[in-house]
Amino acid sequence: MHQDCVFCKIIAREIPATIIEETDQLIVIQDLNPKAKIHYLIIPKKHIIDIQSFEKADCCIGSKMFFMAQALSQKIAEQLGSGDFRFQINSGIKAGQRVFHLHAHILAGSIQSEF
Ligand code: AMP
Repeated sequence: MHQDCVFCKIIAREIPATIIEETDQLIVIQDLNPKAKIHYLIIPKKHIIDIQSFEKADCCIGSKMFFMAQALSQKIAEQLGSGDFRFQINSGIKAGQRVFHLHAHILAGSIQSEF
């Protein structure tokens, strides 16, 4: 838990969020400022800053993020009729990362083109 991290605060229930799924290692929330019809964030509970600081011991978290995306695809298909989605990780400030706790964007349906 990092004191100044918004996602750590969501995981600790110190600030509210719309929670879509939760496991022992991951939480999935709705993005506060959606850039598509469906915009979820898959967030590891462990405070990993970005992919650059990902360690070998974190490999299980990475694969669990992929499998979570696969599970969300079914939910997306129920809502939009297609389970296709974009999986995007902004890793580092120059790549557009604004929250420095690793997260994958899941975007589906009318994705804003500049995103
Ligand atoms: P990034 O630019 O890749 O770091 O993405 C950060 C994302 O977190 C943005 O899409 C924000 O809209 C989203 N975000 C920031 N604060 C919150 C929050 N409290 N609840 C849900 N999403 C948030």
